[in-house]
Order: sequence, then structure tokens, then C-alpha cells
Amino acid sequence: MNHVVVVGSGLAGVRSIEALRAGGFDGAITLVGEERHRPYDRPPLSKAVLLGASDSSFVDFDAAALRVDFRPGVGAKALRPGVVETTEGELAYDGLVIATGAEPITVPGDGPQHVLRTLDDALELRARLVPGARVVVIGAGWIGAEVATAARRVGCEVTVIEAGPAPLAHAVGAEVGARTLSWYDGIDLRLETMVSSVEEGGVELVGGEFVPAHVVVTGIGVRPAVEWLAGADIDLHNGVVTDEHLRASLPGVVAVGDCAAWWSRRYQARLRVEHWDTALGAPEVAAASLLGEEAVYDPVPYFWSEQFGHMLQYAGHREAADRLLYRGEPAGKWSAVWLTGDDTLAAVLTVDRPRDLVQGRRLMEAGRRLDANRLVDPDISLRDC
Ligand code: FAD
Repeated sequence: MNHVVVVGSGLAGVRSIEALRAGGFDGAITLVGEERHRPYDRPPLSKAVLLGASDSSFVDFDAAALRVDFRPGVGAKALRPGVVETTEGELAYDGLVIATGAEPITVPGDGPQHVLRTLDDALELRARLVPGARVVVIGAGWIGAEVATAARRVGCEVTVIEAGPAPLAHAVGAEVGARTLSWYDGIDLRLETMVSSVEEGGVELVGGEFVPAHVVVTGIGVRPAVEWLAGADIDLHNGVVTDEHLRASLPGVVAVGDCAAWWSRRYQARLRVEHWDTALGAPEVAAASLLGEEAVYDPVPYFWSEQFGHMLQYAGHREAADRLLYRGEPAGKWSAVWLTGDDTLAAVLTVDRPRDLVQGRRLMEAGRRLDANRLVDPDISLRDC
């Protein structure tokens, strides 16, 4: 292998380059990324950057030291075997890393709507979050909750409109999501409510009601950024389909991060996880696969969110669970624990209980059975259950 092309200059792309060099790859590497910025981290965008505590979140990336031909502002348009077509001409490759991430879904309508995916999005939105501004946030998922947190903190009048029966319902289920309801104190939270369109001056709801707003922020999810691969001879299904080695169906091609739908040996299911830890961890396996090794990507998925003064952390795959138990009451620090039919841990969501998260992750990796009667006592360490 002489030349690796990496498409996408987010965390997964950058980590792939580091892993290739750490793995001994000495050939040429070209990195193309649509954004004009140098690589940066996204989690701080909806936290420190939106709150004004920081203006950027650039990652350490020394293109010269890594001997990378970095081409910011260049997009990949199409792929055929051995060649990536970009907005600035063709690039021949013999190894290709697809790391194009995901892009926000928007709501119909001609009115101005903000999304929060890029540094530019975050800086634009921050400038609009001023005391007294009427802010409508569409979606009470991870991004919606973090934007609502920031908007309320700066003194905006915040309305959150959520189609589901509770905040975070899509991510952790309505029952667990309902435990976060009291956090929305001072926010006009409208559940089971659908926005039909964003118009000048506000949003129109299904049913016709108009909710006025100076600022509309849409946080209803993302889709994998794989449109540029539409005409390519590569399997796509909810992202780039890969095996457990992160190899795509086209020889010499791997996919990592938000755009990759990999086969999980652990869960015997195809997963696409839109979280930072996957973008951080998967590249090592993808790089090894490109270098001809048989590495397997098989993590217990993990993410965190900071909202309304709480630290939420989640690990596991709740779809593998049979039942749900709680440690602690909603008014305090608590964890939701999902058990399989065999009483092993399928997933855990912790709210201000980081120790449960650390121990839960280890228990999932070990696959040990737990005693449900002990588990519901928040004073007993999870590892002693
Ligand atoms: P991305 O970071 O999306 O990078 C992909 C890059 O590819 C982009 O720069 C894009 O412009 C570029 N690209 C796309 N198409 C093309 C093309 N055709 N040609 C060239 N370049 C292209 N996760 C957590 O676990 N915890 C959090 O608290 C958390 N907070 C978040 C807050 C925000 C506001 C956002 C947006 C995400 C957050 N995440 C969080 C998710 C996490 O940031 C992502 O999972 C991670 O950024 C994925 O990295 P990636 O490299 O796969 O994709």
C-alpha cells in the first residue's frame, strides 16, 4: 500500500491517520475535508463553546509531523474502485478511510433554522442566544437538551418541542426519559407535539398553532453523510456497511465513526453509533485492517451528555435487555440499569453517578450475572451486586 486517502477531517479521520502512522505505515497520506477549519472536537460545541467558555475546540493535529497532505475545504463527490473524485480533481488511492461523519436532519419550511454540527454553527447560534430571546428548540434529545441548557442559562425564554412522550425517549426510552422532566423547570416543554414547518418568526405545529420565536434550533437527529457514495459500488445501509474489522464491501476501503455501520460480534447486530468514543476507538482497528491485520472492533458503546447541571453517561446496548431497574430516586443521583434475561448487564445510564458507569462498563465486558435485589440498593457498589 503506497497511498491512503482519508475522507473527512473530523475526529475519526484524524485518529485514523495517527493509527496508520503508529502502525508503521510509511507511505503517502492525503486527508480531504469539506470544512475549512483544521480538525476539532464536536462535544464542546454544545457545551463550552455555546456557553461562551471557549471559542474553539481544535484537536492536536500536526499534519507536517504526520506527513499528511491535508486539503481543507475539499469535498469528496464520488467513488470508484481506486479513485476518489473530489471538488478539486481525482485522487488515486490504494487504501481508503471513509470518515465523513453525519449531518443534521432539518424540518421543512422556509424560515431560518439553526442546526448544531459545526464550529461555525455553534458560533452563529451563540451570537443569537441573548437574554430575553425567544428560543424554540425542536427535539428533546441529546443536542436539544444541551442547547436548552445553554439558552436557559443565558436568560432566553425557551420552548422545547418534542414529538415523543418524554425527553430523551428515543435514546433511552420514555420511562427513563421521564425521570429528567423536572430538569425542564422554567422551560415551556411541549411533549407529543410535532412541528410541521419552520416559518419566518417561529414554527407552525401540526394542528396549526404558531409558536413565535426569534431563534429556532433543530436537534432532531442526524443521518450518515454518505450521499457522495450513492453511485459507488459499495454496500450502504444506514451508513457504510462494514464487517467486524471495519472493512467496507469494496476492497481496500474501511469506514469509521458516525458514518460506519459495523457488525458487532458482541451484540450479533449491526450498530452505527454516533458518539465520540466510537470516533476515537474505531480508527485503530480500521488502520490495522488496512495494514492487513485481523483486528476486531467490538466495544461496549459509550457516551456522555452534560445537561441542566447533570452529567449523564451511558454504556451498553439496551436493545439486548429484558428488564429495567433503578438505583436511586429521580430527585437525586440515580442510574438506570438494563438487565438481560440472564441477569447480566445490557446497559447502564448514570446521572451524576460516575462510579456506576465505570463499574458497569467492566461488568458488561466481563459478562457477569448480577443480583437484582442488591442492585436496586444505590448504597451497594454495582461491582458488589
Ligand atoms: P464528524 O465529526 O462529523 O467529521 C466528519 C467530517 O467529514 C466533517 O468535518 C465533515 O464536514 C466531513 N465530510 C462530510 N462529507 C464529506 C465529503 N463528502 N468530503 C469531505 N469531507 C466530508 N458524543 C458524545 O459521546 N458525547 C457528547 O457529549 C457529544 N456531544 C456532541 C455535541 C455536538 C454539538 C455534536 C455535533 C456531536 C456531539 N457528539 C457527542 C457526537 C460526536 O461529536 C461525534 O460522534 C463525532 O464527532 C463523530 O466523529 P466523526 O469523525 O465520525 O464525524
